Amino acid sequence: MAQTLFKLFFTQRLAALASTESLRAIREGLLWILPCLLVSAGFLLLSECARVLNFPSPLVAFLAGLHAKISSVIPLLVAASIGYMLAIQHRLPQLPVAFLCLAHVVIATFVLRDYPRASATFVLFIAIASPLINVPAIARLHRYRWTRLVNEDLVGHNLKGTINMVVPGAITALLLVVTLSLLLQVPHVVQFQGPDMLDALQSPYGSGVFVTAINSLLWFFGIHGVYAIQPLFDALDQAVVLNGAALAAGEPIQYVLNAGLLGCFAFIGGSGGSLCLLLAILLFSKSQSMRLLAVASLPLSLFNVSEVLLFGLPIILNPRLFIPFLAVPVINTLLALIVVQAGWVSPAVASVPFTAPVLLNAYLSTQGDLAAVALQLVLLGLGTLIYAPYVRAIHRQAVEGGTVYLKSFDTTFRGLEEKGRLLEMDPVLTSHKALVRQALELSRIQQISDYEFYLEFQPQVSSLTGLCTGCEALMRARDGEGKVHSPWEFLQWLAQARLMPDVDLWVASQAVRQYQKWQKTGFALPITINVSSATLTTPAYGRQLVQILSQANGHVSVEITEDALVGDIQVTRQMIEKLQAIGAKVYIDDFGTGFSALSYLHQFPVDFIKIDRSFVVAQQDPKGAQVLTGMLRFCEALNLGVVVEGVETAEQLAFLQSGRGHSGAELIIQGWYFSKALPGDAVQGFVRERAVKVNDEAGA
Ligand code: C2E
Ligand code: CA
Ligand code: CA
Repeated sequence: MAQTLFKLFFTQRLAALASTESLRAIREGLLWILPCLLVSAGFLLLSECARVLNFPSPLVAFLAGLHAKISSVIPLLVAASIGYMLAIQHRLPQLPVAFLCLAHVVIATFVLRDYPRASATFVLFIAIASPLINVPAIARLHRYRWTRLVNEDLVGHNLKGTINMVVPGAITALLLVVTLSLLLQVPHVVQFQGPDMLDALQSPYGSGVFVTAINSLLWFFGIHGVYAIQPLFDALDQAVVLNGAALAAGEPIQYVLNAGLLGCFAFIGGSGGSLCLLLAILLFSKSQSMRLLAVASLPLSLFNVSEVLLFGLPIILNPRLFIPFLAVPVINTLLALIVVQAGWVSPAVASVPFTAPVLLNAYLSTQGDLAAVALQLVLLGLGTLIYAPYVRAIHRQAVEGGTVYLKSFDTTFRGLEEKGRLLEMDPVLTSHKALVRQALELSRIQQISDYEFYLEFQPQVSSLTGLCTGCEALMRARDGEGKVHSPWEFLQWLAQARLMPDVDLWVASQAVRQYQKWQKTGFALPITINVSSATLTTPAYGRQLVQILSQANGHVSVEITEDALVGDIQVTRQMIEKLQAIGAKVYIDDFGTGFSALSYLHQFPVDFIKIDRSFVVAQQDPKGAQVLTGMLRFCEALNLGVVVEGVETAEQLAFLQSGRGHSGAELIIQGWYFSKALPGDAVQGFVRERAVKVNDEAGA
């Protein structure tokens, strides 16, 4: 009961919360900062290495300075990118609004210029919060006619949209100045001070929990935890020095809670014990993107720099990771305090910089106590286990039931939507007709974006053995009312929106996942997927496709249509060879319905031909039967495997099995006679059923 409640409340609520539009805008916006962060962190690492290796100090300072400079623009970039995402949501011109949001941060830092500490503490928070407030405010102001400087279309959509941001932009900037100035009138804000006494450290458990919890809580809102409670951290640093002095004087050590203990045991890898999170991702997450991020941030995390995870996952304003992000440092602090007070591990007596690498920091700050290193390892493991279920849950929510919403190609879709709107605003492209067509396309895509996509698998049966030999993955889409739509219908819109490569890559990953799912239950069946020529002939997409399919060890193959063969022969040929290199087979789909395939066929090393249903239908008629047998003979001559599609009746099957016109070699039959496409879970049943039938017939 309690568990169900927990699940209901946290998992579901948090997932719902996490998918709200504005939080999504923040997450995606933060992601755009990642390259900058990595560059900045790279300089930090270099400067740390230079320092450790005793390079000349100007060089160390130079590298550290580069890190600091880039870091200082991060809040500006954060504001701009969140502003950009929100502008899309509110249908405002993106770049002008993004630049306004950036200007808001500059304004805020200027207003707070006499309060550098408050400014340093809150600048990222302001960068996140101000677009969240200001973009909707701009959108609202924009609705009032009086804020629009231009109403006529005389100047073109683009210019008009930009100019009309001036008044709302000025008003929101002014409001920001007024709000901050008023806040500065409040004495407490001016003398913004965290708790400050060394005495507080006398009650280590309470203070330890306070410091670690408040640090996580602040980071959750993008407030720099260490800056916010700087006085307390100063006291914690001082405690280490006092411990060192006490040790030297032969007196008892007073401060169990200190910067050394927190740095080594609570903030392993940075705020929230990020190294634990990172290990949890590497050990327990199946999400490619999360794992990639974890690998990228590993070297930084070893130096206790957690920014990449904070921004990339992100942790900031991500309700799904908040609980462990809070719990891990708190629990680790309490355990470390108990162990140190029990005397099993020495207290910290030497000051060590925050960026001293994990394990080494524990060793150095205790002046060589290996038990401290052991404790750090244990707490690292414990923290990893605490993070594990949350990391798994994120992935599970993403793939639940193998179905995915087009919403998950979000960025792509947004990109398109954005492009559509940009073109719509382009003064050159004012032809009314084009606009109407684009608006229509856009609304179709919007409609499709609410569909839920999934795959079904149509079995294929050998004409010789009667056993199921493979299946074709076919896409299905369910709309909000539960109605299932045919691929003919939605694929044309996706193709027009140039989204086919994204669709194909999604299908590929779903098929691989299905194959792996079967494999776990001891079942295996080759799958083919349909790949459009746009995917095949664009090297970047082709590479991704090969990368995805390589995870299925050649058990997921590819169907391409003839039109892929008439494009760039060189590129297509190379792609086919790459696919075959990972063990995948290449099928020519709808063979005989396109153009010029015959003349090109010998140039491509394909494995199978799929004969289109129209030839099977035509077989009723003597001429049609001749065409079909001719085709079978042709494939045989080229030594190609043959799949015959759309076999619906026993007569059609009998014709194919009779071996009339061909040598009686194996044909693979795919059609409703045997089965329509089945859900992934039903395929195993079909395969078993076929095997039983064949067995019975053999026995009879
Ligand atoms: P296709 O690749 O030729 O797929 C075979 C189509 O014939 C499927 O239609 C299948 O349900 C249908 N079919 C199979 N057996 C019979 C039969 O005995 N009689 C009849 N009348 N039809 C049969 P579906 O699923 O509607 O797919 C239509 C087309 O949409 C596919 O034709 C393919 O071109 C495209 N498509 C489907 N899924 C995907 C996908 O995941 N990616 C891409 N790029 N295209 C897809
Ligand atoms: Ca096909
Ligand atoms: Ca086909």
